[in-house]
Amino acid sequence: MGGSNPIRVQSMTTIDTMDTKGSVEQTLRMVAAGCEYVRITAPSIKEAQNLAEIKKELRARGCNVPLIADIHFTPNAAELAARLVEKVRVNPGNYADKKRFETIDYTEAAYQAELDRIRSKFLPLVKICKEHGTAMRIGTNHGSLSDRIMSRYGDSPTGMVESALEFLKICEDENYFNIVLSMKSSNPQIMVQAYRLLVQKLDEGGFKPYPLHLGVTEAGDGEDGRIKSSVGIGTLLEDGLGDTIRVSLTEEPEAEVPVALTLVDRYKERAGHEPIPEVENTPINPFEYSRRSTFEVANFGGHQVPRVIADFSAKQKVTHASLFALGYIYSIPLDKWTITDMACDYIFLGDCVLDFEIPGTLGLIYNHKTWLANKNQVRAFPFIRAEHYVEGVETSPTLNFVYATLNILSRELINKLKNDPTAVLLIDTYNKHGMVEQRRLFIELMMNDCKVPVVIGRAYGDLQVEQLQVYAATDIGGLLIDGLGDGIFLAAENCGGDKVVNETAFNILQATRTRISKTEYISCPSCGRTLFDLQETTALIRSRTYHLKGLKIGIMGCIVNGPGEMADADYGYVGSGPGRITLYRGKEVVKRNVPSAKAVDELIVLIRGDGNWIEP
Ligand code: SF4
Repeated sequence: MGGSNPIRVQSMTTIDTMDTKGSVEQTLRMVAAGCEYVRITAPSIKEAQNLAEIKKELRARGCNVPLIADIHFTPNAAELAARLVEKVRVNPGNYADKKRFETIDYTEAAYQAELDRIRSKFLPLVKICKEHGTAMRIGTNHGSLSDRIMSRYGDSPTGMVESALEFLKICEDENYFNIVLSMKSSNPQIMVQAYRLLVQKLDEGGFKPYPLHLGVTEAGDGEDGRIKSSVGIGTLLEDGLGDTIRVSLTEEPEAEVPVALTLVDRYKERAGHEPIPEVENTPINPFEYSRRSTFEVANFGGHQVPRVIADFSAKQKVTHASLFALGYIYSIPLDKWTITDMACDYIFLGDCVLDFEIPGTLGLIYNHKTWLANKNQVRAFPFIRAEHYVEGVETSPTLNFVYATLNILSRELINKLKNDPTAVLLIDTYNKHGMVEQRRLFIELMMNDCKVPVVIGRAYGDLQVEQLQVYAATDIGGLLIDGLGDGIFLAAENCGGDKVVNETAFNILQATRTRISKTEYISCPSCGRTLFDLQETTALIRSRTYHLKGLKIGIMGCIVNGPGEMADADYGYVGSGPGRITLYRGKEVVKRNVPSAKAVDELIVLIRGDGNWIEP
């Protein structure tokens, strides 16, 4: 891993570690799917011991995949596992600390005493790893920072980085360097900032350039999990960071592997991309979110949420029914439109003129010539190529979409856009390293103080749905996460249909938290600690609460890690014993040990009691 090795793909078993046969079978399935490292939880010494059995059986069956013991709270399990498997993963937030959610005011001396205490607990493991040639991941999780770190640095990327550095210093003092680092969070924005900051701090602090393990925790399942993971992992891969990745889904671990491969395989083709002009001083702060400042033009830019533009330009005919896929449901008997939470804002029609009355929230975009012939149609606006725009063709008095790529972004064009209160720039790219080229375009606008709102356009063709989700979430999400972009225009021919494409756009906005259109589920991927069927329960909770737009619900398999890991969820549904669930409001326990048969109903009672329930 690291250096010039390929980006490695890994995952984690979900079977009880004491079930040797089940763990072996699952590992073999993961390896067959392309998994290169397998992580297995070792919650106590007996599971750590059983890793030896699992490894023996795997080796006997010809499988040499490196195994990683996942440790929380139990140094004795770590010290045993480090003698048995290739790598141990420790979480600096809970290796030597128990979390009490307390804020403590430390004196310098008291803080140093805490560091000394950690050193004495952690040192034996470092020595064992060194002696046995075992690798270690120092894996910080945003949700499980120690009270000490939280008290000094807060719940922040800085706290995450400092938490890892405390452990790293101990390793380096012992001349132990067989280390990989991670900075995971369920919020892709925090996760991206934390990894970037880590790299910066390693560099500044004279540490070695350790390999990075990338992942978004508790990403959930289905398209949400895929998109959220890709926004976080993909953005960093585009930055050139990341040596191994895990996509955490609330699904079978084998299902994680193809998503991870889709993410990393893109970079096999990336070398030798068309050159992108170098940046000397970036106006974008890579460690903190701040939205690029823009004018408000119609409902774009300023304080408006990013807008979604659907691409219907290849259609011969558009009818009422065609808009169903875009979130507009037409009732013939009532002659009325129902507008869903995922209704796009504009449709690019090219030259296909619409001949019926459109819903009041929708705008139409035509090629310039077609628009000229139909400019009296309500809410119809032109799509104008930059070169024609600069020439001075006729424009709409309210809203014009100017299409450009980086190589035609001339000084003349920038100046005209700067002074045009009707222009929205629609950007595209043909570069193999497209996200970075588009980021370069934003930088150019910012350096020239051009506040035109920008819609990020990307075109894809002939992709599987999962590929579309992963690619678009990386390419567009990677810009939105840095505050760049006032809209999405996704043109995706033969990639799963109009509904999939439209929902992908909204899901990217949701994952980057730039526009919320549905309930968010922060569900753990499950592991050997899990106390209930996470996939089934997540599906059940989703079926009852999918309509609670903006609410964040954490669904966690165990009470050991769950409450910390569910981060900023509004409500938590956490396994606290076999058949028992504990319900949380934020970080506060509201009902303990509810029988699982009643727990979803109780969760809804809780949401209702807080006034956050609406009827579906
Ligand atoms: S929260 Fe889920 S994945 Fe994390 S340790 Fe608990 S059961 Fe395992």
